[in-house]
Amino acid sequence: MRFKYSFQVCLLLLIGLVSQAAAQETKLKWFGHAAFSITTPKGKVLLIDPWIRNPSNPEAGEGKDPFAPISRVDYILLTHGHRDHVGDAVEIARKTGAALIANPELAFNLVKLTDFPAKQASDYIMQMGNEIQIADGEVTVAMTPAVHSSSVFNSKAGPNEPERAYGGSPAGFVIIIKNGPTIYHSGDTAYFKDMETIGESYSIDAALINISQMGVKLSARAAKSIHGKVTIPMHFGTFPGLLQNADGFAAEIKKLKLGFYEMKPGDTISFRGKQLMRTG
Ligand SMILES: [Zn+2]
Repeated sequence: MRFKYSFQVCLLLLIGLVSQAAAQETKLKWFGHAAFSITTPKGKVLLIDPWIRNPSNPEAGEGKDPFAPISRVDYILLTHGHRDHVGDAVEIARKTGAALIANPELAFNLVKLTDFPAKQASDYIMQMGNEIQIADGEVTVAMTPAVHSSSVFNSKAGPNEPERAYGGSPAGFVIIIKNGPTIYHSGDTAYFKDMETIGESYSIDAALINISQMGVKLSARAAKSIHGKVTIPMHFGTFPGLLQNADGFAAEIKKLKLGFYEMKPGDTISFRGKQLMRTG
């Protein structure tokens, strides 16, 4: 009897420890290009630059439903208005009810020129330098500068109207997760020296660096400035004209002795607290 009781107590303790560990996990999934989802320890889902139907996403191949793995999305974060970043945001917003996090010009023009639901694009308008709390305080989002352009494609434009409407300033994001990692997403950007300020202002655990806009050397310099505990390359190999692989970048990062991890489109990695644990 006594043995049975102890065994039950041990089992309960073990279940408690396992579920506690699971509860502290943050998952980061790459859909290819600049599209990532973050699932917080409390189960909230953030989707960044959701071009899910990009050609490198293995879940978006012929005969597959690319949105099947995306059943829940709470927030859609857009770095800028270009189509390879807005991607499938409208369809996903309509399907999931997710709220948009973006600058005002991008948000309002998306509502006006596309079918993005207006009531989902009003609560989390941000400007550069702002920090907002979302997910009942579990997540803080900071909007950081990016040096690029931004416009919203207007498919309704008449023959004498511009097809590209103003999209406000392009941006990056720092996403700080309670009991989880702090993740930087560069958006599309050239190198700028104030990346050092971002690296100094936040303790970045994972830096998602766009390696197609800056060239290999300056992408590595960006990674050094941001100084993430792990640098993860993105925005390469999706279509011709982009950098096709991260090999040169990986070699530069190695020289700088920075942490590096290369995800494949479709991969998910997990963090326990701030610690990168494993893939899968
Ligand atoms: Zn892009």
